[in-house]
Amino acid sequence: MSDNYDVVVIGAGPAGYVAAIRCAQLGMSVACIDKRIGSNGKPVLGGTCLNVGCIPSKALLDSSQRYSDITNKMAVHGVNIKGVKLDLETMMGRKERIVGNLTAGIHSLFKANGITWLEGSGRVLAGKQVEFTGQNQEAKIIATENIIIATGSSPIEISSASLDNNRIVDSTGALEFANVPKTLGVIGAGIIGLELGSVWRRLGADVVVLEAQDTFLSMVDQQVAKEAKKQFSQQGLDIRLGARVTGTEVKGNKVTVTYVDTSGDNELVVDKLIVAVGRRPNTENLLSADSGINLDERGCIFVDENCQTDMPGIYAVGDVVRGPMLAHKGSEEGMMVAELIAEHKAAVNYETIPSVIYTHPEIAWVGKTEEELKKSGDAYQVGVFPFAANGRAMAAEDTAGIVKIIADKKTDRILGMHIIGPSAGDLIAQGVIAMEFAGSSEDLALTVFAHPTVSEAVHEAALDTLGRAVHIAKKRRPAK
Ligand code: FAD
Ligand code: NAD
Repeated sequence: MSDNYDVVVIGAGPAGYVAAIRCAQLGMSVACIDKRIGSNGKPVLGGTCLNVGCIPSKALLDSSQRYSDITNKMAVHGVNIKGVKLDLETMMGRKERIVGNLTAGIHSLFKANGITWLEGSGRVLAGKQVEFTGQNQEAKIIATENIIIATGSSPIEISSASLDNNRIVDSTGALEFANVPKTLGVIGAGIIGLELGSVWRRLGADVVVLEAQDTFLSMVDQQVAKEAKKQFSQQGLDIRLGARVTGTEVKGNKVTVTYVDTSGDNELVVDKLIVAVGRRPNTENLLSADSGINLDERGCIFVDENCQTDMPGIYAVGDVVRGPMLAHKGSEEGMMVAELIAEHKAAVNYETIPSVIYTHPEIAWVGKTEEELKKSGDAYQVGVFPFAANGRAMAAEDTAGIVKIIADKKTDRILGMHIIGPSAGDLIAQGVIAMEFAGSSEDLALTVFAHPTVSEAVHEAALDTLGRAVHIAKKRRPAK
């Protein structure tokens, strides 16, 4: 094994492993260091996303949605099912299998691309050197031309709800419950709180979500957030806003959570408690004092628009740098950095990064919200179409939600798309592509969408932006 590489990547999550593969494809010699140990006790690639994030959570969201549909939504189709039983062990086993297949897939890709996988910790020293400490605790110095830091993030812990990894858990623990808790508390009505709260609600838990902010999903367009709150409440998710957790106590099989809201001091007693209050960048023990790399005010590694740190040739990508903590954002940054190292032109368009919350209905958005545009004072026009008027959504008995398009008042250029409804996570790609091509709502309105598909709601929302949606009767401004 050579101890000199063109590139050393630290971290093999979606930011790091994609960067490593693209660098190798471009002809560079690459080593990728990762210290993660998988659920089988062996070193594993794929980072948070594949092991304890995107993939296992989506596996459980999918399984739990099937269970919920079969138990609650089949009779209306004339399908009567009796004796439905939940086999949680099999559900968890399926999740583990998917994780195993995907992480093994990354290993195969590393082998196929000639990437050296170094199982252990990496630390950046001065002079573009990396200290690698293997599983056996032996350290060695690796020299390299370029370093890509992709060490990701970890759950934020709060002193008012210290984890015991049994009754009080973070997102990783919440993916591994051996039984469905009868009562579940969740601290934080963010993306993880809503996704994992939904999983256990669908499987039968009574779920209370405590959110410190007064506004629900403040980063989401508030018309969409309002609809989401209504839908989640109907599903039995008890979301309490303005709830500041002051303490927790584990007694026997129960956790008592104390919190303050406008009504005063409150108490909640649950079987399990998930703490999902955000994530922090992984930078501990990563940089020597003389590495020349600086952090920003949020503790992320400081980088410019090319993901270059303050040291030339040392880059940082993914959750450890500014911007949304999303797998696809990290992967795109990884790809960009590989191209830049190869002296190709490359950029990430941060204006068109989509976000998806994989609840039911799904929530997805790209670009500016109406609230942001009100604040900036930019003139805009809005088109909205409800899935309740979409034939395919009706056929699927899945009509909750809307598509909302926001376009520049003068140029009609699309500034944002916001969806809550069936397949929102897939539909949003249409908004992303339109925005990437500097498209207008008229461009979407002039595009042919297949019938009957839920994507026609995007078409109609675009038509509505121009004041001429066909399948909805409402008083409107004169059509253009
Ligand atoms: P990570 O995936 O965190 O990978 C970093 C790797 O670096 C880790 O394996 C870590 O062990 C390793 N590492 C850290 N320090 C060192 C060191 N010093 N030496 C060696 N190795 C080190 N995002 C989405 O886009 N869609 C989703 O649906 C989604 N769902 C999620 C669900 C959950 C429950 C969670 C927790 C997250 C979810 N995310 C989702 C977020 C997503 O997982 C992250 O944005 C993504 O994993 C970040 O990728 P990354 O490569 O930057 O870091
Ligand atoms: P988040 O930032 O989405 O939400 C955290 C929530 O907790 C916020 O609403 C915040 O106001 C609230 N909060 C913070 N401190 C609190 C306290 N003391 N008491 C009560 N509420 C409190 O964070 P998350 O849900 O932990 O997820 C972390 C990140 O992981 C996300 O920001 C996202 O980038 C990523 N993620 C993405 C997906 C996806 O793309 N579908 C899924 C899961 C996670």
